[in-house]
Formats: sequence, C-alpha cells, structure tokens
Amino acid sequence: MRPLLILALLSAFSIAAPAAPRHPAAKAHAAPSSSKAKAKAKAKAKTKGTKGKAEKPGKPAQPQATGLPGPAFPSFAVPAQVQVACDRSLEGARQRVVALEQRSPADGWLAAYDDLYAYIEEAANPIEFLTNVHPNKAVRDAAQACTLRWADFSSTLGQDEKLYAAARQVQPADDIDRELLRQTLENFEDAGVGLPQDKRLRAKQINDRVTDLAQQFDKNVRDDATQVAFAEAELRGVPESVWKAAKRDPQGRVLLGLDYPTYSTLMQTAEDAAARERMWRAKTNEGGEGNLKLLAEIAQLRREYAQLFGQPSFDDFTLRRRMAKSPQKVLSFLAEVKGTVAEAELREVKELREAKARQLHQPVEGTRVERWDAPFYTEVVRRERYHVDQEQFRPYFPPQESLQFTLRIIEKMMGVRYTRVAARLWHPDVQAYRVSDAADGKVLGTLFVDLYPREGKYNHAAVWSYRNGSTRLGRLPQAALVVNFDRKGLTLDELETLLHELGHSVHADLSATRYAANGGTNVLPDFVEAPSQMLEDWVYDPKVLQLMREVCARCKPVPDALIAQARQARDYGKGVKFARQHLYASYDIALYGAEPQDPLALWARMEGDTPLGYVPGTRFPSGFSHIVQGYAAGYYGYLWSLVVAMDLRTAFAADKLDPEVGMRYRRTVLANGGQRPPQDLVREFLGRETNSKAFFDYLRE
Ligand SMILES: [Zn+2]
Repeated sequence: MRPLLILALLSAFSIAAPAAPRHPAAKAHAAPSSSKAKAKAKAKAKTKGTKGKAEKPGKPAQPQATGLPGPAFPSFAVPAQVQVACDRSLEGARQRVVALEQRSPADGWLAAYDDLYAYIEEAANPIEFLTNVHPNKAVRDAAQACTLRWADFSSTLGQDEKLYAAARQVQPADDIDRELLRQTLENFEDAGVGLPQDKRLRAKQINDRVTDLAQQFDKNVRDDATQVAFAEAELRGVPESVWKAAKRDPQGRVLLGLDYPTYSTLMQTAEDAAARERMWRAKTNEGGEGNLKLLAEIAQLRREYAQLFGQPSFDDFTLRRRMAKSPQKVLSFLAEVKGTVAEAELREVKELREAKARQLHQPVEGTRVERWDAPFYTEVVRRERYHVDQEQFRPYFPPQESLQFTLRIIEKMMGVRYTRVAARLWHPDVQAYRVSDAADGKVLGTLFVDLYPREGKYNHAAVWSYRNGSTRLGRLPQAALVVNFDRKGLTLDELETLLHELGHSVHADLSATRYAANGGTNVLPDFVEAPSQMLEDWVYDPKVLQLMREVCARCKPVPDALIAQARQARDYGKGVKFARQHLYASYDIALYGAEPQDPLALWARMEGDTPLGYVPGTRFPSGFSHIVQGYAAGYYGYLWSLVVAMDLRTAFAADKLDPEVGMRYRRTVLANGGQRPPQDLVREFLGRETNSKAFFDYLRE
C-alpha cells in the first residue's frame, strides 16, 4: 500500500488521510473516514465563534521560546491528562457553538465559523494524531477514546439546524467566501441536516458507528503483533540489518514483525521461497479475521447512509463532490488504465516466470509465479537487466542526511528555509523544523519528523497536517511526517517515499489561505496526492541528487549511470504495479457500490481474475485501512491525481529545481489550498487545461 496523507480529524473530517504508503497498494494520504464524517467535520470545523479572544486560534502566532511558531505540541505523560484536555476542549467547543448559533448571518459569520473550525482542529487533531505515534499504549487508548467523543460532537454539529439556517443566509463577499460557503453548506447537507427527523437520527447513528468501527479496524492493524519465526538459514539473501538485532524465540529462531521496512525487504531479498510465503501470508492476514466483519458492516452502513439521501450507493454519494463527479467516470477511467497496462502485465509475469525457471534450473513450462515470488523475481530481473539492487543505495543515503537532502530540494524549488529547532515532542527521536521564507525571513510554519520504527507506532509512511494556517488569523500551519526507516540508510524507493510525504507537509506548510478550513491539504481527495506524486520523479534526476553533497560531505555521490539504470529498473514492473493499483481501486468502488458484497468473496473473485490469482486462506482486505478511512470510494484518487501530477511535471521538464517555476507553483497551486477548485489552480499554473497525455504516454512507454 502506499503512504497516506493523513489529515487529521478535521480534515478527517475532511480526512485527508495520510499520505499513504507507497507500495503498490495505497498511497494515500490517509483517507477520510467517510465523506459524511468529513462533512460533519467540516461543519463543525467551521464554526467557532465569537469569543475566541482568549484562545490561541484567534491570535496571531507568536514564536515560542523554542523558536517554533504557534502553540507547543501538547504533551501527555499519562492517560488522565488526555481526558482532562479532552473534557475541557469539548466544553469549550460546545460554548463556541452556542455563541455561533446566536450570531447574525450578516455579522462576519463565515469568519466566526472558521474560528470554530480552528478551535476544534487545534484541540482534537493532535490527540487523534497521538493515537498513531504516542509511545505509551495507555495514552494511545485514551487518545482514541477522546477521538470518538470528538466524532460524536462532530456528527451532532453537522446536523445543527441553527447553524445551517444561518449559513444559508450568508452573503459571500467574494469568490473565496463563496467557495467556503459552498463547501460548508454541502458539509451540513451531507451530514443530514436537511433530512426528515427519523432519517436524521439514523444518519447520526451511522456516522458514529462507522467512526467507531473504522477506529477498531485501524487499531487491529496497528496493534497486530504478529511475528514470524525464521531459522537464520531461511533468511539467506536478507540484509543482516533487517534481522540481526531482532528478538529470538526459545528455539533461537529470529522473530520478525510485519512493519514495512522488514516486510518489503524480506519479500524482495529472501531466496527461500517458503520463508517468503510465510511472511507474505502473515502480512496478507494482518488485522485479523474480525476486520472482515468490521469492513462488511462499514460498507453496509455506508450504503444505508447514502440511501438516506436518495443516492443508490456510497460511491454515488461520495463521488458527486469529487473531481471525478460520478462512479461512471471513475469506472471508465479505470478501464482505460487497465486497457493500457494489461499487455505489459502479462509480459512481465511471463518474464518473472522465466527468471524463476532460470534461477531454479527448471523448465519454464510448469513454473508458476506465486504472489510471494513476484517482488523477489522483480528484483532479480532488475538486477540482471539493469544491475540495480535497492539495497545498494543504503550507504549513499543515511536517514538524517536524506531528510536534509529532501528539505534542500524544497528550499531550492520553493524559496524557503528549514531550520532545525530543539523541542520536546512525543518521542526523543522526533525532530522539529521551522519553515520560513528565504527572501524575507517570514516564518511560514512548522514541520515535525518521526523517522524510525518503534513498537506501537503507525507502521507506514504518512503526513498529518493537523493544524492549518489562516492568513485571516495570522495562524501558521503545523504538519507531522511519520515514516519508518532503517537507521543504516534508505533505498532509492524509500527516498522517493520520503520526498512524497514531504510533499504533503509542504502543501500544508506553504499554504496561505484566508480560512483555516481551506488550508493546505484540505483539498479534494482525488487531487490531494498530486503535489506529492509530482515530486517522486525528482530523486532520479542527477542534478537534484547533487544537492546531497550540500548536506553530506562524507556521502559518496551516486554515479549518474547508476541513477539512469535505477530509473529504468523502477519502470520495469510498471504493468504489474499499475494493474495492482487498478485492482485496489476497482475493489473499493465495487465494495461501495449499490449491491451488498461480502468483502472477502468479492476480493477473492476480483484478485482471482488477475494473472497471479487469489491464494485461498488469505484475506488482504482485513488490512486495507485506506478504504475504511478516508479513501473509501476514493482509492482511485491515487491514479486520478497521478494524471494531474504527471501533467504538473511537464512545467519542470527543463529544470526540476527551477526557482521561478517553483515559486509560481508555490503561489498558485500550494498557497491556495482548498480555497479555489483544483482544476482552476492547475490551469493557472500550466497556462492551459490539464490533460492525461503525460500519464498515458508513460503507461505506454
Ligand atoms: Zn501521499
């Protein structure tokens, strides 16, 4: 799966989910739990009110003693502190809602609504984020309980008739107001405020229940402590850095968990097919069988929810608000992708078979490529054909220097500076950066970075843009980037992941919107991946890679020829990779269609139709968090926004670090966040309508 971009609660409401993991499964930013949830969220988000003076959200951001702008990240040592903060801020939010309900629609109502949004975001989002990263399980559990209370608050707010009635009377002063107002009204409507009483009640019940189930689902994945035991001999080919320091069982076997650095490295490097199979089966069953029941219930509830609004399916309900507009448009786009890559997929599977037969000295006839063979033999072909081995990149890319390198790319392109600042955060490994404008020194935002794996931590790659900026409030954004890298260094794939995630944080930190509710990554979910996906290609550019020397004198430069080979190697396997993305997206759309589906039977049928088939006894959907959270009826967004991303790249074709193009990009696409429709921003940046030529040309190459 790919990295998610998680927009926390609010966004969670709008949940832009985390920028997900980028292995072929899902890269999202994280997904919204549901558009409804979003809706409510937004609804709530926007409200605050009037008094606000004593509150931080209403005051201009002042640098702290630490040198970071805005409020310090909240520190919770014990669960009781979470509960106290939760009680206090929920009460504060309720008071603000009451004040807003009494406010005249003619008296700065939109701004007051956005004040409420900002208040809620600041109170709820860091706590929701901590459910994913706090080292203490009891604190994570308390944070999760608090998040459920906010979800309840949010679904109630979304149905607030007084606020809805006021919003309908607001006269927007300009296009930015009009856009926020449109979104606000849609959010109220999607939360059920306009439904008859009985349906409205049911809508709230469903919303709360889905939030609860989705959290249980995620928790089951996050807390899945499955370990797979291997004799050392079974780990032939796997780099020692992955297993040498791992715990052992009483028989002396190495115990490995399912986190991505371990899982993907083992799948790509273990020569022992039985070892790969054990690891693959464990990963494919991650989350546990109970998650299939949760997923079935979630899908059924979302279908019922859509039907309360007269929509035939959750797909219809969700997509009418997206760039894609309808399930029919998504399906025809997906069909075009499939038609374009089908032949390449078959060719590649044949090549993997030949590679396996060669390596095992057996005839091609009778050789079968299993699911757990594909990543390994893809690497074999990449080594044979392009002489590229991802492991060979680790010495070139130490984690800390890799981070600084990616920051340097953004500095060059966008005219900003990242300055490291000492700060006490949720774990001693976490780093803090102040982001400022390079030309005038103006402080723009904050970035936190959590680089290394640890127990109980979110085990993918994602960004939580948990606090959005607002020029109206002088409020500066804060974003947290969470990845899990090997301390020995990064592969080139991982460097690409890091830059992808950083792209989400840049979208948040360089946003300069009037309203917090429109900040940064609060954009349409089928656009939100585009700015990050655009940057992925940068790590294959020799000129860009030279920046590594500016941040690491001791790092040897990667030879240009190796990079060129790596780029070709990356593109090898494109057929299988895009066919897989197509499968994930199609599964999501089918699951949330008008006809009820058993999640596993549907998966077995759809995966069974692919060249590598379905393996009985496995249940991939039990770990497919994307479609439970914000990417529900939205997984196609990874492919959809890649079309835009590849089109955006055309502007940087001559020079990926061109500061003029970069600044224009920052001022149009990034700075406007969600306050203007994405297609308008892209058109203004490119000077023409966007099109899918670059994307389909790439698939055909
Ligand atoms: Zn992403």
